[in-house]
Amino acid sequence: LGYSAPLAGSSLEDVLRTGRPRILNDLEAYLAAHPHSESTRLIVAEGMRASLTCPLVVKGEPAGFLFFSCTRPGVYTEVHQQLFLQIAGQLAMILEKGRLYREMLRLNERLQETMDSLERLATRDSLTGLWNRHSILELLQRELARSRRERHALAAVMLDIDHFKPINDRIGHLAGDEVLREVTRRVAATLRAADVFGRLGGEEFLVILSPGDRQTALEVMERARLACGSAPIEIDHQSLEVTISLGAAVVEPGRGSDPSEVLRTADRALYRAKESGRNRSELEVLS
Ligand code: GH3
Ligand code: MG
Ligand code: MG
Repeated sequence: LGYSAPLAGSSLEDVLRTGRPRILNDLEAYLAAHPHSESTRLIVAEGMRASLTCPLVVKGEPAGFLFFSCTRPGVYTEVHQQLFLQIAGQLAMILEKGRLYREMLRLNERLQETMDSLERLATRDSLTGLWNRHSILELLQRELARSRRERHALAAVMLDIDHFKPINDRIGHLAGDEVLREVTRRVAATLRAADVFGRLGGEEFLVILSPGDRQTALEVMERARLACGSAPIEIDHQSLEVTISLGAAVVEPGRGSDPSEVLRTADRALYRAKESGRNRSELEVLS
């Protein structure tokens, strides 16, 4: 019909309230008696002379109407009323099933979102959004096993902000947090999607390159080092020169290793980078 009107106050309200189908077998007479019924005027103008309106009730709640009309007056009887009530009942059941199904989909979506956010809370570092310590160590274990199986090299790069404690002490812990975030952003921008980046704790990070040979590790470390140190970090109208030191452990193809050996090795390399002046990269190969 392409016609809509408010339900309140209309005679359809009665149909819904009583749950009984309504037969109007002489629409012209009805219109004469109800000259303000816009809907009746419209269907009479379309040539309709009789109508049957059936309420659609889903779980006791009105869901709509089934509306039948005919160009001949006087066609609808008690038989039609019963038949259409049955049809309306079945349709209501189908509508209810559809509603339950949509509700189930919605709940399922909510459940998935909740599980996603729980997963995120458990696996991500809340300050930087990187993998947290637990996760990055688990990922290191997994990537070591994979590199052994697939006989490719793996590099674990440990990264530590230089003289972070004095920076922190000077500008405050909150601004220090902002430095951690900015360093994270700068390093992340130099990595490829497949590289695994996590925060070990404090101002220490780990990048897993898998596959990652000696050459790759050197290149990645150099890019990250320059990304941090080549431009000052602006925080609270202060310009901070922030550099990082890096140490890599490279596990040769097929050698295999366990996470603690890899971390110890990378940490040794990092210590050498610090000892020899900071803002540097060092690398050790496990062969
Ligand atoms: P080095 O060049 O030898 O690495 O010197 P450093 O000062 O960076 O190293 P140190 O390990 O002595 O200091 C690390 C500091 O990092 C200590 C602490 O104040 C700071 N820190 C650790 N975790 C956080 C954090 O979550 N937020 C902030 N703002 N600071 C942190
Ligand atoms: Mg440090
Ligand atoms: Mg440190």
